[in-house]
Amino acid sequence: MIDYEIFYRRSRAFSNGAKRLRNSKQSATQPLCYSHFSFYQSRDSYVVDDAQSIETFFRLRDDIEKLSLAQYFCELASELAPEMEESEDYLKLVLNCLYMLVSEKRSQTFLKPVIELRMLTLAGYMPSLGVCSACGKEPEGNVFFDIHNSCVYCAGCRPSGERITKGILNAMRHICASPAEKLFSFELAPDSLKKLSSISERYLLTQTRRNYRALDFYNKLFRE
Ligand SMILES: [Zn+2]
Repeated sequence: MIDYEIFYRRSRAFSNGAKRLRNSKQSATQPLCYSHFSFYQSRDSYVVDDAQSIETFFRLRDDIEKLSLAQYFCELASELAPEMEESEDYLKLVLNCLYMLVSEKRSQTFLKPVIELRMLTLAGYMPSLGVCSACGKEPEGNVFFDIHNSCVYCAGCRPSGERITKGILNAMRHICASPAEKLFSFELAPDSLKKLSSISERYLLTQTRRNYRALDFYNKLFRE
């Protein structure tokens, strides 16, 4: 795992000055670099004064699928993390997912729904995945996930929406509620992971009501 040396605040800063920085500093302002920045404020914007790279994730550039997924992870954080507030949890999540991606400790199909659901949870979009929203009982067998109302129903109450297995439901519960250090500690069969990825993506698009350019690019290349 990576040591986190800075407290991350999502902010918009201009790095025009980076061109004037010494060569050793230039890599710190490249995409997918985890870096320590010093800013100064200029009127209503921030300007990068100094930058030191901590982790470059350069190996992602050797694989277009991993690279496009990594850019999607960063776009998610850019869109969902609060601006100008401490957002260390978002930073840790993105860094850990990039680390898992580059080290191949977890597959792309595993990491995509993990980051989508976990980041939605951080951003206040956590679905209600406990008991059936109609009868209040623990759903057994097939479960129905309502992506519009962010809740689940048992087959006896409302067999509509996305049908998921109990295994997928438990994986979703784990992703949303487990402690950060246990986030990647679950298993799901490849077919179920694929289904989970499809559901988490549609849930993300439905709840946040926006498109993600990096996701469109990733899907065009690897899903169509
Ligand atoms: Zn029910």
